[in-house]
Amino acid sequence: MSDLPPSPRTGTGAPPLLRLSHIARTYNLGTPAEVRVLADVSLELRPGEAVGLIAPSGAGKSTLLHIAGLLDTPDAGRVEIDGRDLSRAADRARTLARRDRIGFVYQFHHLLPEFSALENVMIPQLAAGAGRAAARQRALALLAMVEVDHRARHRPAELSGGEQQRVAIARALANRPRILLADEPTGNLDPDTAEHVFTMLMSLVHAEGVAALVATHNHVLAARMDRRLELRQGRLLPLS
Ligand code: ADP
Repeated sequence: MSDLPPSPRTGTGAPPLLRLSHIARTYNLGTPAEVRVLADVSLELRPGEAVGLIAPSGAGKSTLLHIAGLLDTPDAGRVEIDGRDLSRAADRARTLARRDRIGFVYQFHHLLPEFSALENVMIPQLAAGAGRAAARQRALALLAMVEVDHRARHRPAELSGGEQQRVAIARALANRPRILLADEPTGNLDPDTAEHVFTMLMSLVHAEGVAALVATHNHVLAARMDRRLELRQGRLLPLS
């Protein structure tokens, strides 16, 4: 278990689960080829809220999600998870926060090919110390919520693209993270499948009360999120 403090799961007065303050990130800092990707990014995510992150390719969405997910360190600014600044915390504290507090979904599913859908959703729970029976029960419940429980015994290669991505969403939520970070989660899918997977993602976000930051190019899907932010020239601007 992590040593992070608890905070309320839901409620209008709930403190932000994720707070980014004045984040800056430049690649190859100090070289002639330096690329300033994030200039001054601030953001708060609250429980049960799904926020769309809209930007063209190359604008810095992945960089921002990596910093929010404690996979990368900003050059300046703070990353607070549940009120605790982890931007420059020791590796172990960051790893535990990532394991216990944050779920990731990528454009590609990254499921383990030699394991079934059920095992793919159980494995992160077992790694975090859950017992087999509890992990299995949680995995089956999540697979049912994304309507792939009838495929629980199948390996990823035996699933359709939409089913693979729904399993990946179930896996991301397996350890009951407070924050879900998704990088173009429907970007590889045809429009109808994308719509279906997105609907599942939104219903799980609201059912589980997580705070979700979802990067997408798709303005139709973005319109269904609670708020939208546009990443432009290294800054976040609200989109109506
Ligand atoms: P997006 O996810 O919006 O497509 P990225 O965050 O992947 O954007 O990249 C933003 C910019 O930063 C791009 O110009 C990319 O080439 C550059 N970039 C990303 N990662 C690195 C890196 N490790 N080193 C140098 N430049 C990078």
